[in-house]
Amino acid sequence: MTDDLLKPEQMEQQITLIDMCEKIYRDALSVIDNDVKDLVHKGKEMAALALYAESIDQISKIHSTLSGIYKLMYNNQNILRVYGSLRLSKVSLGLKPIVDVMDDPEATQQEIESYVMKGIREAGVDKYHHFINQRYILELEYMISTLRVLVEPDYIPLDLTEDEELEEEIDRHIPSMVKMYVWQRDKGQCVKCGTIEKLEYDHIIPVSKGGSNTERNIQLLCERCNRQKGGAIQ
Ligand SMILES: [Zn+2]
Repeated sequence: MTDDLLKPEQMEQQITLIDMCEKIYRDALSVIDNDVKDLVHKGKEMAALALYAESIDQISKIHSTLSGIYKLMYNNQNILRVYGSLRLSKVSLGLKPIVDVMDDPEATQQEIESYVMKGIREAGVDKYHHFINQRYILELEYMISTLRVLVEPDYIPLDLTEDEELEEEIDRHIPSMVKMYVWQRDKGQCVKCGTIEKLEYDHIIPVSKGGSNTERNIQLLCERCNRQKGGAIQ
């Protein structure tokens, strides 16, 4: 079983791949946000539609690449768990349903595309269209943030030791399902200023002051609003 475990250099490759995927994904979102909207404003709807479809196609490809990495990391994590990593057993609780969903071949690519095109006609060129948001954006953001956690260097097998820092880290950990719920509820934007850039999951009442990891105590804030809030508390 040890042979199946990712070696450090293989882990490095995965991290590089995740970085690349995230860059392509964010670039595609930015094209939709800026270039596509520009074209619409200039009355070039057909060009906007073509560019939009191209960007969605890129996002869809990144989605499937990240799904692959995600499954690999998920397996790796299962193997690690055999060695008794406390942090791993905590973080893994919400992962299985997501992996199951991604394994479910319910929709063909053709169905997805025709649905997207129908959605574009109905909703106008808007990346917040419900289907895209649900199918890609939500899962991509989730996978990227989870993968960032899974590739952390301290996710190596640990002995079951009483480590206070470790315990504290576990206390701060927001379960995946709570993150997904909060992301949906707050519509993927900062609840203070509405931006979609640099979002963070914020504990409304800090963990150190007894705040919990339930959806009622978690909100989406952008980096800037979060820093301002931090400043106000101190
Ligand atoms: Zn903000």
